[in-house]
Amino acid sequence: MIMSEKCKQHVDSCRFCWMCHHICPIGNATGQERNTARARALGISLVNREAMGLEEIMDNIYECCTCGACVHDCTTGWNPVMFTKETRLQAALDGKTPDYIAALVSNCLETGNAYGKTEICSDLAAAVKAHSAKKDTLLLLGVDAKYMVCEQALKAIKVLEKAGVDFTVLDSEPASGAQLDFLIGAANETKEQMVACAKALGEYKTVVVYDPDDAKAIKQTYKEYGIDVAADVVTYTSFVAGLVKDGKLAAKNSGKAVVFQDPYQLARDLEETEEAREVVKAYANLSEMLLNRGETVWAGNILMAQYMPKVINKVAERRIFNATSIGANAIVTVSVAEYASLKAVAKDVEILSLEDLILGE
Ligand code: SF4
Ligand code: SF4
Repeated sequence: MIMSEKCKQHVDSCRFCWMCHHICPIGNATGQERNTARARALGISLVNREAMGLEEIMDNIYECCTCGACVHDCTTGWNPVMFTKETRLQAALDGKTPDYIAALVSNCLETGNAYGKTEICSDLAAAVKAHSAKKDTLLLLGVDAKYMVCEQALKAIKVLEKAGVDFTVLDSEPASGAQLDFLIGAANETKEQMVACAKALGEYKTVVVYDPDDAKAIKQTYKEYGIDVAADVVTYTSFVAGLVKDGKLAAKNSGKAVVFQDPYQLARDLEETEEAREVVKAYANLSEMLLNRGETVWAGNILMAQYMPKVINKVAERRIFNATSIGANAIVTVSVAEYASLKAVAKDVEILSLEDLILGE
């Protein structure tokens, strides 16, 4: 396999170590050694030494959610996310992407979302239409909210309406490229999608990005790939925190006891941890799970549930266990993907979005 010297160095340095194996959300859900960072490195190193075929390790390569907990934990500075993504890219270039991933990639290229959806729910269609006029501020909902968790997209719009924000929502949103980046890394197709998105966003003064996965892509990955966005890009959480601070959203603390689930894209990649907490504390009483902020544990997503649903359910159940272990019975999340994942398995615990707190729903 063709792999950059930098990645080879990280693979060969990581493969005999197991210092971070206890923090991998997938490894902890499956209990399998194969799901640790070092096991993935070992597999890649065997392919690099031509002891195995690339196709033999590809299922394992797609079992990593790229949450970066191992990267964050690695005191020696090795980066399993980097070599995992580069292996996905090489597999795509060599035509060795597993069929179930290739189908998701095709959907991204044909419809802009990995799920192949083209229709949105009627309530959301009406809300989008009501905000179709061009304003300075664009609310970018993202594919998970738009196509898979319609009620969350609606709530995101309602919060900005409640605060009196004048904003646009696009009927035909550009794909951020985040899903393609996860599936095939820095391929030309990924970068083309990102360039097109950057161009569309550049038509606005401010872009409020609802999905942390899109926010990470636009604010961090675009820079890595040399893609500029002319607009001021802000996360939905930081924008809403500003609305609360400025008194545009009149907060009233309900006294509800909650914990906050940091999405890794905000906490680790964008180092944004306090804005959502400011909003939560204005509406509820916040306690902290043991692993919070940069130490957060990923709670699942919709994309990986397309091909490994049982493991994703276990990932979410384990994060709920973290919350209930400290007596919490309500978890607030600002990631639509984690919201869907947690909600799918929640029994005796309430799963709330920031919007639920603000709208009192
Ligand atoms: S990422 Fe770092 S801590 Fe984790 S297995 Fe590799 S070298 Fe060890
Ligand atoms: S990025 Fe996350 S899922 Fe992947 S090996 Fe590291 S901790 Fe595990």
